[in-house]
Amino acid sequence: MDPERSNPNQNNPNRGHDGDKPKTNGWAALTIAILVVLAFSTIFNTVSNSQYTQTTWSEFRDAMESNDLSEVEIRPDRIVYMTKEEAKKPPKEQKACFTGLPYSLDLMTFANELDAMGVKVDEQIVEDNSTIMMVLYYAGMLMLSFFMIRMLMKRMGDGGMGNFGKSKAKVYMEKDTGVRFADVAGQDEAKESLKEIIDFLHNPGKYAAIGAKLPKGALLVGSPGTGKTLIAKAVAGEANVPFFYISGSDFVEMFVGMGASRVRDLFQQAAKVAPCIIFIDEIDAVGRSRDSRFGSNSEQEQTLNQLLAEIDGFDSTKGIVCLAATNRPEILDKALLRPGRFDRRIIVDRPNLQGRLDTLKVHTRRIKLSEDVDLNKIAQQTAGAVGADLANLVNEAALRAVRNGRKAVNQEDLLVSFETVIAGSEKKNTVLSDMEKRLVSYHEIGHALISALEKDAAPVTKITIVPHTDGALGYTLYLPEEEKYLSTKAELLTKLKSLLGGRAAEELVFGTVTTGASNDIQQATGLARNMVALYGMSEELGLMAAASVQNQYLEGQAHMDCSNETAALVDQAVQRLLKEAYAGSKQLLTENRGLLDEIAEYLLIKETITGEELMAFIHAAKAPRLEEAENAE
Ligand code: ADP
Ligand code: ZN
Repeated sequence: MDPERSNPNQNNPNRGHDGDKPKTNGWAALTIAILVVLAFSTIFNTVSNSQYTQTTWSEFRDAMESNDLSEVEIRPDRIVYMTKEEAKKPPKEQKACFTGLPYSLDLMTFANELDAMGVKVDEQIVEDNSTIMMVLYYAGMLMLSFFMIRMLMKRMGDGGMGNFGKSKAKVYMEKDTGVRFADVAGQDEAKESLKEIIDFLHNPGKYAAIGAKLPKGALLVGSPGTGKTLIAKAVAGEANVPFFYISGSDFVEMFVGMGASRVRDLFQQAAKVAPCIIFIDEIDAVGRSRDSRFGSNSEQEQTLNQLLAEIDGFDSTKGIVCLAATNRPEILDKALLRPGRFDRRIIVDRPNLQGRLDTLKVHTRRIKLSEDVDLNKIAQQTAGAVGADLANLVNEAALRAVRNGRKAVNQEDLLVSFETVIAGSEKKNTVLSDMEKRLVSYHEIGHALISALEKDAAPVTKITIVPHTDGALGYTLYLPEEEKYLSTKAELLTKLKSLLGGRAAEELVFGTVTTGASNDIQQATGLARNMVALYGMSEELGLMAAASVQNQYLEGQAHMDCSNETAALVDQAVQRLLKEAYAGSKQLLTENRGLLDEIAEYLLIKETITGEELMAFIHAAKAPRLEEAENAE
């Protein structure tokens, strides 16, 4: 979403620390490896020794002279042997003895002597290369443990844990973000509430002198892509202080305690360069409520505790301000929101028409636009889009202009990229069979005709049956006449009809139904459910709400909160609404069957038609009817 964020390493001066670490790390690892190997070999020897009984050389000599030996194994440092008595026992109970090797002993003569007595001598071990094998064995062990320890230390180093390497993995700091409030379009309320923080960062002394306590943190709340990061950067830019960025998900680590130590590091670094801004993106990843309803765990809890401790701990007169972003404020731990912590909440909304226009203006500042460009129109078409979508749209348009060898972006570039960004890109080479095309054509006209015929529906701007990469085989773009915050019941009912119009046309014309309408059905069901459970628009439930909105900043998904009986009632009401809407749209299409055929056939040939073309058909069809009516009078 944010191109500047995708590669934080570039902006991370701290990364450089890794460069001078390996040498010291290497020596430390080697020392540890040697210690580990030594420890292991000692343990190994002790264990193996315990399987043997130690005897003196003379005891061994005695056994040898009285011909008591059954087997002898000569090792570089000892003689291992078994008496005949032991050899008779079952293998599990046998116990071998060992004794030291006198310096003066000539191994070859000794071995021959034993051989002559008929004692079994293990030849292989007598061979000299055993020493080389030992050396190789130890060297191998040493290398293996050396690399394993190196790897471990590297991992721990990333977390900035203990004494090993303090590279602050994913925190990145920008001395100057280069972003100003002028780069943030709209969001005036958010900017207003942040002005005080900027003033504070400029001159913390002024506030300290009076004894005023400034908030240590503020929570930016809004959907993804609405510009929370951008605003935080702008605050840093306006105040001319460094900006620390970390994402809550970076705190969530495999090892317990790692996240907490990262938090500590972050605040330590920040304290060194204060005044500064610390920005924690997606704080819900770490600040999730600790009652286990949302699935917290001990690592997350530790990290959160550390975060709380750091926020309480830092001296706000130094000028550290902690901004955090989330789109799910309701799942945050209450402790985070207490006074003195993130007690200010700043809403970053989806932009309205003016906001979208401003955002488009900001992003087209450095782009050459040809004269036909009308940003107002684009802003009108993009209701619901967030800042990131619009930035993306402008960039796509510029790329398209370059691809087509033009020197400036024109309106068509913007319109086409709008569809690329919003509806996936046009894929001319996807081949549909003729039958499928007919079906899609009727389906789309079904939608469009209903909304055009019903007065209350938004007029369509464009209908197409050119398949898009997101899998939609065709679509109808609606243009809302003005920004709407309230909808009447009649409008919603019309919307339901229009949503089901595609399916109705299919059934009416082809007598069959297809899978193509699944998305429509889902949308219609969602809308009907909201009408019943949230807006009190059904007779069955009346004014009772059966659901509550869980998260108004994300998708506004409602979740049912009522008894099972009521839930069943809601389902019934939803079903009735859908049934009635479907019947309504089928009836409307039946009445206008001629019009439906005419426009669908036209779309089949043209593949894309505009809203004006559609309206022309409708007006042409209505005109004679009006005449008839007049004549009849
Ligand atoms: P968030 O942090 O809310 O997910 P970002 O701040 O990362 O969103 O926004 C991503 C990009 O979208 C920004 O870098 C910017 O290019 C663009 N953008 C978002 N909101 C605005 C805005 N109000 N004005 C200008 N550009 C915006
Ligand atoms: Zn449809």
